[in-house]
Amino acid sequence: MRNDHDRSEDLYRRAVWLMPGGVNSPVRAFRAVGGTPRFIREAKGAMITDVDGRRYVDYVGSWGPMILGHADEEVMEAIKRALERGTSYGAPTELEIEMAAEIVEAVPSVEMVRMVNSGTEAVMAAIRLARGVTGRNKIVKFEGCYHGHVDSLLVRAGSGVATLGLPDSPGVPASLAQNTLTVPFNDADAVERVFAEHRDIAAVIVEPVVGNMGCVPPRPGFLARLRDVARRNGALLIFDEVMTGFRLARGGAQELYDVTPDLTTLGKIIGGGLPVGAYGGSRDIMQYVAPAGPVYQAGTLAGNPIAMTAGLATLRRLRDPHVYRRLEEAGARLCAGLVEAARAADVPMTINRVGSMWTIFFTDGPVWDWTTAARSDRARFARFFHAMLDEGIYLPPSQFEAAFISLAHTDETLERTVTAARTAFASLK
Ligand SMILES: *Cc1c(COP(=O)(O)O)cnc(C)c1O
Repeated sequence: MRNDHDRSEDLYRRAVWLMPGGVNSPVRAFRAVGGTPRFIREAKGAMITDVDGRRYVDYVGSWGPMILGHADEEVMEAIKRALERGTSYGAPTELEIEMAAEIVEAVPSVEMVRMVNSGTEAVMAAIRLARGVTGRNKIVKFEGCYHGHVDSLLVRAGSGVATLGLPDSPGVPASLAQNTLTVPFNDADAVERVFAEHRDIAAVIVEPVVGNMGCVPPRPGFLARLRDVARRNGALLIFDEVMTGFRLARGGAQELYDVTPDLTTLGKIIGGGLPVGAYGGSRDIMQYVAPAGPVYQAGTLAGNPIAMTAGLATLRRLRDPHVYRRLEEAGARLCAGLVEAARAADVPMTINRVGSMWTIFFTDGPVWDWTTAARSDRARFARFFHAMLDEGIYLPPSQFEAAFISLAHTDETLERTVTAARTAFASLK
């Protein structure tokens, strides 16, 4: 297995001394699977290379943004040209208009948009806006959905339905968490009950296809019922499409499932690998945002020209509908191969997939919410993860994360992954 002289090991030791857990975002640290995180030196297409020169087929894709693959030529060229003109001005640019127009054109619910620097920021601002518009305080979220590290959303359920929130993290005041009502994903009846019990609900926020408990799709009709319940009760529906936006379809999950939210948050892909987020909605609602309206929100580097350039170069490539056909075909091909490989090794598992987002759960029952996702054998996942890593396949280092296929994953790359999985599944016995 690992060798004590490798460079990732040395770097990790240094990193842990200088940074909490040795990383700048927790899941990178391999805590859920054990072992030393690989320090990455470079990436190109579907491949990443660590500091020891080992190459892996990458299914993390920087946690979603790299839909074109790493270091895409066009994106890199566009960034280089933009760099010549300076990196930030703190004044409006034409690039920001182009980005806004691109998003408005693509995402059905969005007529106006505000750019921010991360998905977390987008969600934080969307929540503030929903509260500002409705004059209400409470937010309904779903167990197992992640919306960035926004204070009031770092809340899972206690037990049962419509539990008053308890913070998941020290530092989140209980008084804030109490405004978050948590219900099981895919349970629209539970949402109805919450609305029957609480008057003060500003918004329902949901990952329309969950990526953050592993990939969990909505049941038929679930999103449409959320749309209906929220509208009947005067609350806003927020689709957190930070992960699914431009990933499942150009117009995100709202296009795929034909359900129109009031507010949409975006991030990841729209930055083309640079730090970007955005939130948008109807003109009526977005006019509440400062300086057009009273709900304050600002950002020194928001709409940054280099980030807009990388994002635009990416989004323009996604105008081609063939892109989403290819991602669907690649996803279907890969997952069919993985199912076959698991069956051959007699390993019980369930694969959830929507387009190019997928997760293997080590359980033989279906996974449709947090309770069913949590039945997965995590120790087994950790062994599978390391077996795949040894075979040169880099999966997300946690059971509860979605894996991503990019346009740079060729059929040959997918085939290689299935071959690796045969070995990895067989090693689990
Ligand atoms: C990644 C993610 C976020 C947070 O975005 P950051 O850029 O990491 O702050 C929020 N919501 C969803 C659904 C995400 O997948």
